[in-house]
Amino acid sequence: MQQSVPIAQDLVLVGGGHAHVHVLKRFGMRPVPGVRLTLVTRDVETPYSGMLPGYVAGLYSFAECHIDLVRLARFAGARLIHDEAVGLDRGRRQILCRAHPPIRYDILSLDIGSTPRMGDAAGAAEHTVSVKPIDRFGERWEALLDRARELGHMRLAIVGGGAGGVELAVSAQQRLARLLPTPPQVTLVTREGLLPSHNDAVRRRFEIIFRERGMRAVANNPIVRVEPGRLIAQDGSVIEFDEALWVTEAAGAPWLANTGLPLDERGFVIIDETYRSPADTAVFAAGDIATMPAYPREKAGVYAVRAGPPLADNLRRALAGHRLRRAVPQRQALALIGTGDKRAVASRGRHEAYGAPVWWLKDWIDRRWMRRYTDLPAMESVDDDAMRCGGCAAKVPADVLARVMARLDAPVSDAVAIGLDSPDDAALLSFPGAPPLLQTVDFFRAMVGDPYLFGRIAATHALGDIYAMGGVPETALAIATVPPAARPSIVEHDLFHMMRGGSEVLAAAGAALVGGHSAEGAELGLGFAVTGRTRPGRLLRKGGLRPGDRLLLTKPLGTGVILAAEMRRLAPARVVTAAIGTMLQPAAEASACLAAYGATACTDVTGFGLLGHLLEMLTASDADVLLDPDRVPVLDGAMTLLREGLASSLHAGNSIALSSLTGEAAQDPALAALLIDPQTAGGLLAGVPADRATDCLAELQRLGYRAAEIGVVAPRSGGKPRVSLEAGCVRPAEAPLAAVAHS
Ligand SMILES: Cc1cc2nc3c(=O)[nH]c(=O)nc-3n(C[C@H](O)[C@H](O)[C@H](O)COP(=O)(O)OP(=O)(O)OC[C@H]3O[C@@H](n4cnc5c(N)ncnc54)[C@H](O)[C@@H]3O)c2cc1C
Repeated sequence: MQQSVPIAQDLVLVGGGHAHVHVLKRFGMRPVPGVRLTLVTRDVETPYSGMLPGYVAGLYSFAECHIDLVRLARFAGARLIHDEAVGLDRGRRQILCRAHPPIRYDILSLDIGSTPRMGDAAGAAEHTVSVKPIDRFGERWEALLDRARELGHMRLAIVGGGAGGVELAVSAQQRLARLLPTPPQVTLVTREGLLPSHNDAVRRRFEIIFRERGMRAVANNPIVRVEPGRLIAQDGSVIEFDEALWVTEAAGAPWLANTGLPLDERGFVIIDETYRSPADTAVFAAGDIATMPAYPREKAGVYAVRAGPPLADNLRRALAGHRLRRAVPQRQALALIGTGDKRAVASRGRHEAYGAPVWWLKDWIDRRWMRRYTDLPAMESVDDDAMRCGGCAAKVPADVLARVMARLDAPVSDAVAIGLDSPDDAALLSFPGAPPLLQTVDFFRAMVGDPYLFGRIAATHALGDIYAMGGVPETALAIATVPPAARPSIVEHDLFHMMRGGSEVLAAAGAALVGGHSAEGAELGLGFAVTGRTRPGRLLRKGGLRPGDRLLLTKPLGTGVILAAEMRRLAPARVVTAAIGTMLQPAAEASACLAAYGATACTDVTGFGLLGHLLEMLTASDADVLLDPDRVPVLDGAMTLLREGLASSLHAGNSIALSSLTGEAAQDPALAALLIDPQTAGGLLAGVPADRATDCLAELQRLGYRAAEIGVVAPRSGGKPRVSLEAGCVRPAEAPLAAVAHS
């Protein structure tokens, strides 16, 4: 995310809809120097509406019909902010978000789709499944299928008779017919007639398909009320259902009403023929959320797709201060409506066609469109310097650090109880007449483009050292670097976001931010020097492990390789999101829990990986360890990436620790790589007495940690500590140590 030219303007795209994916691609192909692109999105996998019914029918996998916005944003050089916009402060040119502080923009573009309008029928929101917003539909549909499997039958009602509703009904019918032992009962209910914006031949075609499949269509009978399992229509008739899908006309997001932007009667943003709001030269909109009053069009994905190129062009022009170009959407589009059985109906004006060739055409068009945003051009340079990792993977290798420290003639002080001569996660200072203090410092460059998120991760990571010592953080000093920008407001925004993220985490931990230092730097960087108290009698150190102790790890491994893969656009969005979620999990409760269960030693797993930090513990404890490779918790997707040969830039530096490994499993290069994978804000690694380990683990899991018991401490068998990989070495507490001791 390093910019060669200082940032002068912020272009912020809100929503990763059909038009914005095109804008991202175009800016990725031809970046605008000095313009920083940001995508604010509620979801990191955005569905392509054209293929969604095919997904419902079981003809496409989830991945085939969703665009990975993490990869696309990385291709575009855009910062991805995973959050939901909930308002605009147009006076200050800021986007208000659910979780982030306000985000500044010079030019803003909205492509956020539509919101369900269920207010007309009481009970609809509570008792039916809304198809909109479509980005959440995938999980709702999977839940519906689970229910069908459970019941063994399905009465499915679909409310809404437009192309979306009809296509969904026939697609769902096909999927349920294959899934269930008895034919599903599918009923489509419409306010008007079926497919009111299509021609008679298309309507007749669907009437035939409905008849052939035993599906029911109830037309011209709006639903006025919904009760559990019952739709009540205007004429009083009742349609009973096991599940109901709501696919009626949608509306604009309610928060738009408070923005002062001119909206149409359904709450959609009014735009002119340049895709810009007539009331605000800095605001653009496209897709379902926009209405062009001079050229009104149906709310359909096809128009959102077509808006992509003129929107990208006009955003570029607006940034350059050039005149915008008018772009009138075409009046009629070819609609290809799938029937869920690898056939489709084509509809355009007065024309209709039906059959397998129409599906073939639709499938070809849709897959071609998806490929544009998923098969992205290869990266130009994958040179190692450009790809050096951020976060804790940007640490100096352990051996280099050790050599430097050994050459230092560092001054000593009587106040130092734990310092460089017996290094631990934090130093312990003891002044006469005062309680002892823990002190630690961490600093690294950003591993994510979102400064607020980075701030949260950096603070979580820095606090880890205090928690590893069983302490309680009290105060923190911050040190930050921010790249120069053409305008002070940009620097201020980034620094504020980063510091706000960090200070929120510190505040939640009960630590006061008491000062710091900031400077211009080549990249965004942040660190904290944290001071903490020890808990009386509960100081945890790296040394102290006893033979027979069980090793517990409180978080899964894999953040290093996942972040390295993300930089190369090789990590799937959901894998990256899960890794970020892990990094954000504080260690406070884990630390208290480990201490309460009598932990004998503890450290936090960070840059040197599990093995590097474990060796520090074994050296300090004069012990060896048996490690069960099958029990080591791993983030989803990490092993796949390691098997593909991906690794963080600290991998080579950390590999020196591999010489301590014994056992057959040590021959597995992916496993070895996992054990030295550098972690940012990684888990706590602790020894717990064997008879308390099971309860401690259960409590950690109850607290929400993906913790695991991964090994058993053994007596030292040689000069240097040894880590024996032995599947099944973790046995019940009552098993005698001899049963697990290695030869
Ligand atoms: C079942 C079904 C089938 C359909 N089939 C077709 C079809 O075959 N052909 C067709 O042309 N149309 C179809 N449609 C209509 C189509 O889904 C929409 O017209 C289309 O998705 C609109 O695209 P968009 O770009 O406006 O927004 P969307 O595709 O809805 O994308 C909006 C994006 O913005 C994000 N977002 C939303 N709110 C926020 C926020 N506040 N902050 C940040 N991010 C936000 C979402 O996560 C999402 O990624 C279908 C609709 C349904 C319900």
